[in-house]
Amino acid sequence: MSKRDYYDILGIDRNATEGDIKKAYRTLAKKYHPDLNPGDKEAEHKFKEVNEAYEVLSDSQKRASYDQFGHAGTDPNGFGGFGAGGFGGAGGFEDIFDMFFGGSSSFGSSRRKGPQKGADLRVDIELNFEEAAFGKKENIRVTRMEDCHSCGGTGAQQGTNVRTCDKCSGSGQIQYTQNTPLGRFVNVKTCDRCNGSGEIIDSPCTNCHGSGKEQKTRTILVNIPAGVDNGSILPLRGEGEPGERGGRRGDLYVYIHVKAHPIFTREGNNIYCDVPITFVQAALGYELEVPTLDGKVKYSIPEGTQTGTVFRLRGKGVPNINGRGRGDQFVKIKVEVPKKLNKEQKELLQKFAAISGEEVHEQTKSFFDKVKDVFGV
Ligand SMILES: [Zn+2]
Ligand SMILES: [Zn+2]
Repeated sequence: MSKRDYYDILGIDRNATEGDIKKAYRTLAKKYHPDLNPGDKEAEHKFKEVNEAYEVLSDSQKRASYDQFGHAGTDPNGFGGFGAGGFGGAGGFEDIFDMFFGGSSSFGSSRRKGPQKGADLRVDIELNFEEAAFGKKENIRVTRMEDCHSCGGTGAQQGTNVRTCDKCSGSGQIQYTQNTPLGRFVNVKTCDRCNGSGEIIDSPCTNCHGSGKEQKTRTILVNIPAGVDNGSILPLRGEGEPGERGGRRGDLYVYIHVKAHPIFTREGNNIYCDVPITFVQAALGYELEVPTLDGKVKYSIPEGTQTGTVFRLRGKGVPNINGRGRGDQFVKIKVEVPKKLNKEQKELLQKFAAISGEEVHEQTKSFFDKVKDVFGV
């Protein structure tokens, strides 16, 4: 069966503009659309013809090739443009290149792309020290692509359908023969009419322009577990961008940033803090009130507590993120020496010194012993 001229099929002349081609195509595609002509074989055939003509004439490269070589210049099942015009056919060079240098195509293998997972997304949130320690339910906002509300993700205008691509019969790929200076090759390439999807949308949804997707901002309630730390990353599976061709959604990664605490620092699940006491409290012993994540707890420091002494409050640290146990809290004592004394305080301290006489404290004694060892004086 000889093929009809593409310009004749669309009822336009050879000088038709892009606009003319589009207009003619729309009118004819609507007229012969299978949905409007159920069971009509002739309409179906015409519809296919119209689509094929439009596919070539709407592409300036393919149109130029067609104008020069006729059907042989465009038909992938024909000569591919080589017979008549050498390497001048549409896409000739690229395909040859792919074939010998391993591009995306290879003999007998499919170029149709399989399901592809959607892109991952990132959201950053800031927590205070206690929220990180004990966990929190947090609403986070994420902007991502979702199924178009108007077409439900099909990409087809409401009331119309997505149909199987007539060029590749829904397989998304086309087998074609190439005559090259090195011989004849059968190759497979992605269907250029449906871009490998195997489906054609005649009336694209006006909301999403046929993509089936639209951008939406969602609020997701995230359960942040107790024990997360600065730099923790929570993966939320399937909350990222949608996949392609039936692939699963990407993931959403929540990056945790923890604000510094005015008193506590943290290392792993342990908490550290410094507690200042007066030198009198240090010398005589004292019942301290120590701040912890659970409120104040009492802790008795003994007489003669030295500055730098660290004591441990077991189980007062940060809960383990796996849910079992807690770290400890380490409290470091800092003995403060008064900077200003009044007259009475000075007199009392001088009296204290007089009573103490030659008696020196343990650390002072040991220090001067070492000096003597080193300097011999
Ligand atoms: Zn196709
Ligand atoms: Zn839509």
